[in-house]
Amino acid sequence: MGFSNVQVDAILKAFTEKIKQPCPACAELNRRQLVGDVFMIPGGYQPVHPMGIARAAAIMSGTSIPPTQIVNMIPEPSITIPALCLTCTNCGFTEFYNIHVLGLANVLNIPTAGNPLG
Ligand SMILES: [Zn+2]
Repeated sequence: MGFSNVQVDAILKAFTEKIKQPCPACAELNRRQLVGDVFMIPGGYQPVHPMGIARAAAIMSGTSIPPTQIVNMIPEPSITIPALCLTCTNCGFTEFYNIHVLGLANVLNIPTAGNPLG
């Protein structure tokens, strides 16, 4: 997706205001780099339906299963956290920051918390 100049300015302002410490892994200053896209972190998966378990067993045994059935056994996340990612250019430590907490949902066109993303 990439970010517009307005979005980049808002992101850098939020990070400048809220991040006060060097990299938590290597302690280097000013080595974090923004990864240029929004990350959707899925969570809250529902338990796999027993039929899904049966299908998984069939797959592991080498039984052929139509692709539509495989899709049906993948659980849907019940929550998704929109996040920004920073990676330390020295050690590779990677961090994710909740867009809602940063106050960037509006500028990044993310629906308010609790509303569906689709
Ligand atoms: Zn580091």
